[in-house]
Amino acid sequence: MRCPYCRGTDSRVLDSRTADDGAAIRRRRECQECGKRFTTAETAVLSVVKRSGATESFSRAKVISGVRKACQGRPVSDDDLALLAQRVEDAVRAAGAAEVPSAEVGVAILGPLRELDEVAYLRFASVYRNYDNLEDFEAEITLLRSEAALAATSPESADAVSVSTTLPTPS
Ligand SMILES: [Zn+2]
Repeated sequence: MRCPYCRGTDSRVLDSRTADDGAAIRRRRECQECGKRFTTAETAVLSVVKRSGATESFSRAKVISGVRKACQGRPVSDDDLALLAQRVEDAVRAAGAAEVPSAEVGVAILGPLRELDEVAYLRFASVYRNYDNLEDFEAEITLLRSEAALAATSPESADAVSVSTTLPTPS
């Protein structure tokens, strides 16, 4: 680990403590060359297994770049995307495996993206789930609408709601 001040490679650990509920270890170090102190963090590497079988480290930046295209022209900010990537990482890490298939990362993206923007969600899902005809879109949109209608109705009357007559106007 190079010293961030002088790039020296010799440092001494002064103190180690767990952080993030045991998911990380932080070490306070002192550079033996310039004497400055800095902190390093150690976390387990989360690997994503691609369809080809190759693995790569999980990267929030990759989640963001994967979703950004679907969000073109939508009212989604960089902060929204950063938060989404954080939620995806939390969800994937919470599953507790050291390696996750890339498909699972895709699934973890769908929920938060849908909350963020339904149009972006549809675009992303259409590629991700290989929608290849209008019926696939129709089925997904019907599902989105029926869930929105249910959410807008009190639980008691949810069974009686007629989905087709309670569609919210898209904003
Ligand atoms: Zn140094």
